Amino acid sequence: MRFHLLPAVVWLALPHAILAQDPVVGAIPFDQLLSDPAGFGFANRTPSFDAQVQELEQMAKAGNLGLDKCQIACALLELLVPPNVSSPASPDYKPVKYWSVQQSEVIPACRIDVASARDISTAIKVSKLTQCPFAVKGGGHVAFAGASSIQNGILINLANLNTVSVNEDRTITSVGSGNTWINVYKILDPLGLSVVGGREASVGVGGLTLGGGISYFSGRYGWACDNVLNYEVVLADGSIVIASPTSEPNLYWALRGGSGTNFGIISRFDLATFEQGPLWGGSKYYSIISNASLAEAFSKFAVDAPTDDFAHLYIAFGYADSFGGFAAVSGPTYGKPVADAPIFDELSKIPALIDATGLNNITALAIALDQTAYVRFRTVTFKNDANLIKQLVQIYVEETSTVLDIPGILPFFSFQPISLNIIDKMKKNGGNVLGLSEADGPLVIMNVNWGWSDAADDARISDTVLRFFSRSIALAKSMSLDHRFIYMNYAGLDQGVFAGYGEHNLGRLKDIQKRYDPHGVFTKLQPGYFKL
Ligand SMILES: Cc1cc2nc3c(=O)[nH]c(=O)nc-3n(C[C@H](O)[C@H](O)[C@H](O)COP(=O)(O)OP(=O)(O)OC[C@H]3O[C@@H](n4cnc5c(N)ncnc54)[C@H](O)[C@@H]3O)c2cc1C
Repeated sequence: MRFHLLPAVVWLALPHAILAQDPVVGAIPFDQLLSDPAGFGFANRTPSFDAQVQELEQMAKAGNLGLDKCQIACALLELLVPPNVSSPASPDYKPVKYWSVQQSEVIPACRIDVASARDISTAIKVSKLTQCPFAVKGGGHVAFAGASSIQNGILINLANLNTVSVNEDRTITSVGSGNTWINVYKILDPLGLSVVGGREASVGVGGLTLGGGISYFSGRYGWACDNVLNYEVVLADGSIVIASPTSEPNLYWALRGGSGTNFGIISRFDLATFEQGPLWGGSKYYSIISNASLAEAFSKFAVDAPTDDFAHLYIAFGYADSFGGFAAVSGPTYGKPVADAPIFDELSKIPALIDATGLNNITALAIALDQTAYVRFRTVTFKNDANLIKQLVQIYVEETSTVLDIPGILPFFSFQPISLNIIDKMKKNGGNVLGLSEADGPLVIMNVNWGWSDAADDARISDTVLRFFSRSIALAKSMSLDHRFIYMNYAGLDQGVFAGYGEHNLGRLKDIQKRYDPHGVFTKLQPGYFKL
């Protein structure tokens, strides 16, 4: 056996592999790769390529080196796309950055830093050939483990798909799917242009857009998913297609909120682009005793929003020693350089302890929140009602007060409107999958974002968040203000996101999934995140 031919990834992974014997490796159909290397993205078939594949095949069949299917997969990837594959077993390995510690703790067998849609296709095909599972990482902002990370599998890292280009008539921005929003805004702001995207710098274009995407501009244009003109998608069979209202329209619909983890991996988003000059916005901080007036002002805004599509508002509550305890914050934003527009009149009457609003551009507003802690997200949607919000704040204070001794605790929760003008804009180009109509609204999304320092406190945090939610939902039900919608981008993994889209949309999504992924590649080989 000519060991020197073996790719470095196999050698680096050997000690670990010995512990990870897998009886199926002998059954890997290497002949598929040998008969069609071009189909795997390897253009020039060479004798040395064949020899290395055959050598791997022999090793897999022998089984006595204890290689598992993912070591074989990584070795094949290193043969097929050599400069882009790295292994955590290498001393030079630089881990990718995640927003939560839960995701950072998950270690892949190898990582492929894809440079093209074709590389993604190769990774999917190698995963299918070897049955080594994979995960896809965009901006890495999902809180729970395994969403865009994978233990001992292939991590498909999109970060190098980072081009941003604007077409000649300034109406479409083509965005590589590895971009974070700050990259997009830094290019568009100087051109006086913008797109409907995330509000914080380091969030990924991919995950945010595929799950919905609440934006400062949603009153004017809907959510991010409603403003994708074309998706370039790598499908389960490795083919690359464009999904748009006129090409693969069912897939296009499914991707508008159905997530990438059921249908394909997006390599490029073409985003509707509009003229956008400076805007007004920022944060106002209040004493917690303003909570009742904030609830009234927010609830009125949720009703009035259709009278002024340029306005955006959320309110949030939190506890931090740096705040001196419990405090409240509002985030009014206006898409023109106008301070305290009339639609914010109720809000403007509430005395703020700190007013950090001002004229800004979107780049400046998208301040990075590089929280690296254990983090828990969870969400629920209610019908809009000020009295409900006031009581929810009370429940929050009661529940949070039981865990304030936990080191590093930052327990935040917020309310964001899905006002009727947003629901209306969701209808364009055939509508999205979220299953919302004017008859539902206006609605209010409540979500928690709790951070803490030590994994040992996870169970206490989890219990408290669950208790807070079950009390909140019970209260909303008792007031007939509950709603089925669960916003994927803020949801915990155990939450029934797809059921919340309604029976009809769930059925249609499943039909589309069967058509585009008849063998269940994304279901079986991409275990993380929300599955149909
Ligand atoms: C600090 C912070 C601020 C936020 N702000 C907003 C906001 O303003 N508006 C809002 O609506 N939400 C917001 N969110 C929620 C955010 O939209 C979700 O967490 C989203 O999933 C993050 O996307 P990502 O690409 O960064 O994450 P990732 O963890 O990389 O990806 C999320 C999921 O999408 C999949 N995925 C990503 N890219 C692709 C692709 N190209 N093809 C196929 N699948 C893909 C991943 O595999 C993963 O399962 C925020 C979250 C945080 C933590």
